[in-house]
Amino acid sequence: MELDRGLPVVDIVELAKGTPWLFEEGFEISESEGYRDGKFGCRTAFHRSLDSLYHEVAHAVEFYLDDPSKIGFHSFEFHVPTEFVFDRYCQVPKTTKAIERELRTFAIQARITEANSKIDFDLEHFLQYSGELMFLMPDWINISVLHVQHAEGEPHEERESKRVGWCIDKIRQYLNDYSIEQIVETWPKVMSHIRTLKPVDD
Ligand SMILES: [Zn+2]
Repeated sequence: MELDRGLPVVDIVELAKGTPWLFEEGFEISESEGYRDGKFGCRTAFHRSLDSLYHEVAHAVEFYLDDPSKIGFHSFEFHVPTEFVFDRYCQVPKTTKAIERELRTFAIQARITEANSKIDFDLEHFLQYSGELMFLMPDWINISVLHVQHAEGEPHEERESKRVGWCIDKIRQYLNDYSIEQIVETWPKVMSHIRTLKPVDD
């Protein structure tokens, strides 16, 4: 079986032109994963996609609106509380803040994607997929502790689908908080912030 490696970077750049406002001075798309050294990666694991690129762009917008200092040149500054357990530091989130940040990022990503006329965007599919991905987050289980009710002996699948449902509702709610106009207006500020962080080489 061959791995689906997604699109070549040149094709992703072409698709990204459907949101021309992204191409501010200094905006660079890289083949790597995530945001690194001032460049926006378009790869998740071995798969390259416009979705992965837009996800990183959405993170930058979300961080900037929250606190620009969370955007470093080399990476974003994520913080999950750690605690010394037995012989190592473990991530012990007691809230759902990390998930909520991720869900706000998905809401921004949805706004960006639906604004791209080169893309056929299916919001319902996007919501379902994004909600289901959240089991990867360290604070996934806290949704059950803090936000949803479970009956005693409730089957695992039902617990899971309630958590997914909570995530989807949350993204819908966040969609009301972000407009494409606001994102387009924020973007030059994000890029100008990144340009000021760039180390000067002589
Ligand atoms: Zn993310």
